[in-house]
Amino acid sequence: MINFFKLSKEDVIKKITAAGFPAFRGKQLIDWIYNKNVFEVESMTNLDKSFKEYLDNNIKFVTLETIKLNEDEKGDTIKFLLLLGDRNTVEMVIMRYKDKDSSKNRNTLCLSSQVGCKVKCPFCATGTSGLVRNLKAEEIVQQVSIANAYLKQFDAKINNIVFMGMGEPFYNIDEVLHAALLIKENYEISNRKITISTSGIVDGIKELANKDLKYVLAISLHAPTDRIRDYLVPVNKKYPLNELIKACRYYQLKTKKRITFEYIMIDSMNIWPDDARQLANLLKGIDCHINGIPVNSVSGSEFKRPKKKDIYSFKKLCEEYGLSFSIREEKGTDIDGACGQLRNKERK
Ligand code: SAH
Ligand code: SF4
Repeated sequence: MINFFKLSKEDVIKKITAAGFPAFRGKQLIDWIYNKNVFEVESMTNLDKSFKEYLDNNIKFVTLETIKLNEDEKGDTIKFLLLLGDRNTVEMVIMRYKDKDSSKNRNTLCLSSQVGCKVKCPFCATGTSGLVRNLKAEEIVQQVSIANAYLKQFDAKINNIVFMGMGEPFYNIDEVLHAALLIKENYEISNRKITISTSGIVDGIKELANKDLKYVLAISLHAPTDRIRDYLVPVNKKYPLNELIKACRYYQLKTKKRITFEYIMIDSMNIWPDDARQLANLLKGIDCHINGIPVNSVSGSEFKRPKKKDIYSFKKLCEEYGLSFSIREEKGTDIDGACGQLRNKERK
């Protein structure tokens, strides 16, 4: 049995014709999956019996199952808890950005690349359990189909992908890059609309730079000095800031792409005036944008969201130092929208 979501559309046609069926059967199948969002062979009404039998015996379609779905009040953030074939669970989140002109509506999917994560950032709910396992490319890709099936009711589909769910994408780089390639081919989402977010795995950044695939690279920076970053993003001890920033410069040199730096804002920790100054120094000469993210407190944690006035004065100071800085629109905090939080609740 091969998993359908591991195949490109071209692979599907090849496989089906090699098995003796006409190419149009493959096209019908592709239409069911990608346009109609139907994944059960028995519901694919225009396929004949022998072809259905072949599919039942040779191709697996459904391996991820939605076991929990939370929507926020406005229906802008939809969080899914997905059950994998081996009973592990991962999360994904759809973020809907609605415009007055509905043709400009955009839907972003935040998807997971691993069950758990070995980086263990202390503020992150995913890190608490360590790494359980990597996701396979097909398990990553299928998240897009599940999201599109949900969006069908609004006549909408996913336009942007961010690897910002559970896991460190560069610790599963082969499956992640294979998945990203399939996402581009099968869902027609260009590389410019795919963001890979990393905690700063320098080898992965370099590998991606050398492939020159023009994905948007997002670095979870969170601190301007090794002293604070060693604590907030423990992998910093392996890849300290000077190496990380060097790798970012290399990525930019190779791809000519603007880099996003994510900066979690934590009360009394990393948003002092001196942090803004050091941040500007660190990023000097890099074409970049900073996303300030007020931390989502995991219950009982020491990481507190700063006061609004502190958030905005840090932003203002960074801008005065010449940095491009925005505060990420907060989505999903009322439905445990931050990565790993829904899953942890469910496991308890
Ligand atoms: N492992 C990768 C990608 C997944 S995490 C990485 O760290 O970049 C995606 C983003 O969510 C990261 O920027 C991470 O720092 C952020 N994040 C994790 N826990 C959070 C929390 N409690 N509040 C706000 N952002 C959080
Ligand atoms: Fe892993 Fe990213 Fe969470 Fe850190 S923030 S523990 S790297 S998923």
